[in-house]
Amino acid sequence: MALIVQKYGGTSVADIEKIQSVAERIIKTYTEGNDIVVIVSAMAGETDKLVRLANEAASGGDPERGEYDSLISSGELVASSLLAIVLNSKGYDAVSLQGHQIRIITDDNYRSARILKIETASIQRELQKKRIVVVAGFQGVNEKNRITTLGRGGSDTSAVAIAAAIKAEYCEIFTDVDGVYTADPNVYHKARKLKKISYDEMLGLAGAGAKVLHQRSVELAKIYDVPVYVRSSFNDDKGTLVTKEDKDMEKEVVSGVTYDKDQAKVTVIHVEDKPGVAAKIFSPLSNQNIVIDMIIQNASVEGYTDLTFTVSKKDIKQVQSILAKIEGEIGAERIDYNPDISKVSIVGVGMKSHSGVATKMFSSLAEEGINILMISTSEIKISCAIEEKYTELAVRVLHDAFGLEIEN
Ligand code: ADP
Ligand code: ASP
Ligand code: MG
Repeated sequence: MALIVQKYGGTSVADIEKIQSVAERIIKTYTEGNDIVVIVSAMAGETDKLVRLANEAASGGDPERGEYDSLISSGELVASSLLAIVLNSKGYDAVSLQGHQIRIITDDNYRSARILKIETASIQRELQKKRIVVVAGFQGVNEKNRITTLGRGGSDTSAVAIAAAIKAEYCEIFTDVDGVYTADPNVYHKARKLKKISYDEMLGLAGAGAKVLHQRSVELAKIYDVPVYVRSSFNDDKGTLVTKEDKDMEKEVVSGVTYDKDQAKVTVIHVEDKPGVAAKIFSPLSNQNIVIDMIIQNASVEGYTDLTFTVSKKDIKQVQSILAKIEGEIGAERIDYNPDISKVSIVGVGMKSHSGVATKMFSSLAEEGINILMISTSEIKISCAIEEKYTELAVRVLHDAFGLEIEN
């Protein structure tokens, strides 16, 4: 008998039939004698629909941030209540709880709030009554008592945070693939499923766009040492275990290839190469919580340089309006915007001790005529910005180049 957290993603609860089969799996775990807390996402497509409605209601402007979060959190309310109704109708005592009822306290950063604290008393009370607890993922509440959301894909983070808070034995993430693969299996059929992956490598993959796990959920799993299993809702495969690095874990030079299409490129052309210019460009962006990903600065020519960086595609309009205000002040000749780019990355802990990995990546892309627009590296990751239309090709080429389909 154990305390287990299970999370079901949007495709797993896409309709009543799927919710019924999710309920069967939960009942099986429960009748084996376990205490169980279930976190659900909104039914597939619902959050997108709510985002469209919010933007439509604001007539092309920016919806008030708190109302926006309140609205888009409602998909999870529907899914959690439906699952509790199904469980009840099958004769099992279940109750749904929203983020604000539990008091999943977050900061004020609407749209991508961070969890600060979880009050576990209400969950514990329900568990003591032997109830199955169903929690609406993705949502929290701030100190002003307004609803917040944790960023797209954030219900993975709700699940791991709750697992850590209630000291669950492990957290199972049920989704539409049966584990973490060497590349998105929907992009490359030769992708191989990993039995185990370390928190750090998973962080590298998630941070580079592998949306199978929300990046923050992996950070929390690592900090609180929560074993996470990524499994399919549609079969009984054991899935992939995300856990601490251990000595028998494969120390692959490259363990995965990922892509992120949510990238847009901004180039500030011909600014003076002197102290303070980069700060003038990036401070107003970070003040608005705009996340900058890759950055490059050209070699200076006669005291002038170009600065290129990437942001999320959804932020490009806001970046444009912020930079328009300071364009004169920084003395830029012009600012170019290109939303048609993506990023491909290779990730692996073994990279730390191997040379030639970057060269192999660049030459493999070159052989296919894929031009590299920007490069960034970290200890266990190399990323290249490329034209978006080459994304899938680049993933396949790199997967082949590093021999990932074969178990070494
Ligand atoms: P959910 O709605 O269950 O949260 P997501 O769509 O957020 O599911 O995440 C699952 C998807 O992640 C898969 O359908 C797959 O296309 C994608 N994915 C990207 N990279 C990987 C990878 N390396 N391994 C497995 N899945 C991946
Ligand atoms: N429903 C939310 C989204 O679509 C959260 C999640 O699925 O994890 O982003
Ligand atoms: Mg997800």
